[in-house]
Amino acid sequence: MSAILTLNAGSSSLKFSVYQMEGDTPLVTGKVDSIGPNGVLSLKTANGAITPADGSLVNHSDALATVLKSLKLTLEDREIAVVGHRVVHGGLNYDKPALINETLIEELTALEPFAPLHQPHNLAGIRAAQAAFPQAAQVACFDTAFHRHHPYVNDTFALPRSYYDKGVRRYGFHGLSYDYISRKLAEVAPTLAAGRVAIAHLGNGASMCAVHNGKSVASTMGFSALDGLPMGTRCGQLDAGVVLYLMQQEGMSADEIETMLYTRSGLLGLSGISNDMRTLERSDAPEAAQAIDYFIFRAQREVGAMAAAMGGIDALVFSGGIGENSATIRARICERMAWMGIEIDHSRNDDNAQVISSEMARTTVMVIPTNEELVIARAARAFA
Ligand code: ADP
Repeated sequence: MSAILTLNAGSSSLKFSVYQMEGDTPLVTGKVDSIGPNGVLSLKTANGAITPADGSLVNHSDALATVLKSLKLTLEDREIAVVGHRVVHGGLNYDKPALINETLIEELTALEPFAPLHQPHNLAGIRAAQAAFPQAAQVACFDTAFHRHHPYVNDTFALPRSYYDKGVRRYGFHGLSYDYISRKLAEVAPTLAAGRVAIAHLGNGASMCAVHNGKSVASTMGFSALDGLPMGTRCGQLDAGVVLYLMQQEGMSADEIETMLYTRSGLLGLSGISNDMRTLERSDAPEAAQAIDYFIFRAQREVGAMAAAMGGIDALVFSGGIGENSATIRARICERMAWMGIEIDHSRNDDNAQVISSEMARTTVMVIPTNEELVIARAARAFA
């Protein structure tokens, strides 16, 4: 019997799941956190947690080997026929998943400078999987692919034209999540899916996407995964002049600025307490409240921007860890948006119902849990 393995290799984590060749319910899901000397592996099936096998978790290859050893019992006689990889950057050429071969690996390696914190780890995951499953098809699923056909005005920066030609563009990310949510919306509310939908993926990484008739027309994320909304530790939209100031006046190096913008900013930077929305919601500190206020305000601004990109809005969909779970944040984002026809039914919102707008509201507001792994598994299945 054959099976599909999905891999999502980040800088210090490796998320994975195993699917059968048919059906949308994974046999196993799991994660290695903190790859390195203090790595931790957790695994679960539909019936609960499994005790992982002993093994090294010091790098991506070791982590994958330990994951496979741990999966052995659950996999029984199933062979991995295809491995689907989340790849953050597909550059200009890929608007859909692609079979991995040496040429594609070279292309993806050349894109490393565009996503230096993510792409090298995605490639490490691909190499580890090729070594572990030489017979299996390997498939790349790109976070940029869903956004590949933005109109020029949402694809460019107002820089000298040569930079656009060199690929300095607004790529947009979180595409696997938007792909999943758009398809789900087409199943549960086909009329809305054919209209103008703003999707808010609010997790530790956060962005919004304007989806018109199932196609992405704008994203809050741009050249890198830093732009747009403030995130757990990333700054979101930032005046380029601030980066110049940090270099020229504060004497910071490019590496120091990178570390600050990616890992010490956002909710963590503003609050000085945590990157975790739950912790901030529980805190009495005024800095925690201010961090949340900023998050809410920027989210409201971006819903407006997404609506402007589509000439209006028929639906707003919340997703991601914060969007799926925090009724308070959803209600606060929607609070000052009656002018856009957005009005929440508080009791539905508190119940995390699928539709949380009031009966009379002009714009439908929904909560749709995302499932990036399933998008990867379905794409990989097509190549098996
Ligand atoms: P990632 O981008 O790493 O996939 P997630 O989508 O898992 O992140 O989202 C993580 C965020 O979701 C964290 O800020 C976490 O605090 C927040 N979150 C999860 N559950 C809740 C909840 N019940 N209330 C508020 N925030 C929540």
